Amino acid sequence: MYLKSLVLKGFKSFADRSVLSLEPGITSVVGPNGSGKSNISDAVLWVLGERNAKNLRGQAMEDVIFAGSSARKSLGVAEVDLVLDNSDGTLPIDYDEVALTRRMYRSGESEYLINGSPARRMDFMDILHDTGLGTGTHSIISQGNLDAILASKPEDRRTLIEEAAGVLKHKQRKDRSARK
Ligand code: ATP
Ligand code: MG
Repeated sequence: MYLKSLVLKGFKSFADRSVLSLEPGITSVVGPNGSGKSNISDAVLWVLGERNAKNLRGQAMEDVIFAGSSARKSLGVAEVDLVLDNSDGTLPIDYDEVALTRRMYRSGESEYLINGSPARRMDFMDILHDTGLGTGTHSIISQGNLDAILASKPEDRRTLIEEAAGVLKHKQRKDRSARK
């Protein structure tokens, strides 16, 4: 599985529909300060279901919607599609390509779609379960997070490595059955 493309429309500084196509492997995003690099990682976090505006570097959730500029007025809706290549069948869904879409209006109402069909936020969680991708995982590490990780205690750092190695879910499962 790999991130094939990201489509932003009305999300933060991306007023016009912008398609970012990616290849397997490492992609670097470069550009001047304030050009929207971090807005791209915010978009990934947001489409996966992030509900905390602070984690998206905003005050309120509607801060993700294009707020207007001197040249154009604000928009009423933000939309991001995250397209994953699933030809290796990592995701438990019978499609070679999986598009996860989130749309949000100024009212605060969010819509979630899987390959264009209405879904719930929970369905995203279910599909991404066990992949290491999703909110609350370490698939996205912000600048502030990085400092915290470097300064963390060895036990905390170990948890992070266990999550990355996929050991954590087995540990949690074991703990759960031990409690029963
Ligand atoms: P740096 O190199 O400093 O980290 P960056 O490339 O990561 O910069 P971002 O933080 O992604 O830059 O983008 C900041 C820009 O996005 C600012 O110009 C800000 O005005 C704009 N922006 C953020 N939210 C919105 C919004 N809702 N509507 C319009 N523009 C927005
Ligand atoms: Mg930045």
